Amino acid sequence: MTSLYLVPTPIGNLGDITLRAIEVLKSVDIILAEDTRTSGFLLKHFSIDRPLKSFHNFNEHRVVDGLIKKMKDGTVMALVSDAGTPGISDPGFLIARATIQAGLQIECLPGPTAFVPALLKSGLPAARFVFEGFLPHKKGRQTLLKKLAEEERTIILYESPHRLVKTLEQLKEFFGPEREVSISRELTKKFEETINGTVEEALNHFIQKEVKGEIVMIIAGKPE
Ligand code: SAM
Repeated sequence: MTSLYLVPTPIGNLGDITLRAIEVLKSVDIILAEDTRTSGFLLKHFSIDRPLKSFHNFNEHRVVDGLIKKMKDGTVMALVSDAGTPGISDPGFLIARATIQAGLQIECLPGPTAFVPALLKSGLPAARFVFEGFLPHKKGRQTLLKKLAEEERTIILYESPHRLVKTLEQLKEFFGPEREVSISRELTKKFEETINGTVEEALNHFIQKEVKGEIVMIIAGKPE
């Protein structure tokens, strides 16, 4: 019997939830949510009425043992994050590992995650890639950028709108102005936009006005 389901939720367009995600969320005893308010809206929209419990970066270490104990007693749980697949730049890894180590069964449903559509919309090689998630803000940032500049596979980063221009400026410095990039903004939403071009071109595009929304950056690997 499955004790924990990791359930992806839409990254913008509610139509992207899967039939199985709805079915599983309706069937479990407890839904663990990164933000109970955000998930509350989603669950209400799909008439899912199961008890919600808070599970996020700031309490996961404290509550995980208690949750495992409950699972051992037969409670079936689902984990959702604010958007996309739990565990992908979101809480999920810790409880998944603890569930497996406890000898309990876990399932991860396939579903929305932001980097896959961004990668395919970039037109850059998608057969081999590295996913780095968010770059560190300070410590280790330059070291990682220098290392990534030598990476030959396509590179995927998550970025916040107010850091995008700074990151593009650093890509110009470390990767060079001619490196190909693709910036996808607001995927699956009303103002979805993908800009494909060189680092220099992307910088010129985004420097002009305040950048808003959620962003995935795809960077071409170093040419061989
Ligand atoms: N768990 C999510 C997933 O599976 O993609 C990622 C969660 S992470 C906290 C949030 C980041 O994902 C955003 O800052 C952005 O980089 C990316 N993201 C999420 N939704 C997006 C969207 N609709 N368009 C572009 N990027 C998005």
